Amino acid sequence: MRCPSFGSSAVKRLPANGLSPDPGYICQECGCKMRGKGMAVIYGIAILLGVGLIALMGWMLSIGEAEQPLRAIGA
Ligand SMILES: [Zn+2]
Repeated sequence: MRCPSFGSSAVKRLPANGLSPDPGYICQECGCKMRGKGMAVIYGIAILLGVGLIALMGWMLSIGEAEQPLRAIGA
């Protein structure tokens, strides 16, 4: 594991937090942070959940619109 900025090997692993056992790494020379694999998974899940929620809302809205004329008729 090396710093992406200038190849320094003074990279320290960040301690595990409540969200992820592998939150990432920090460069002790320039202070830049690198994401660990755990965080990438967390971000991926968060993005999937967001997209899923938006899709679900769109689906529910389309169902609601489709049922509207039927309710007006009373069927
Ligand atoms: Zn660095």
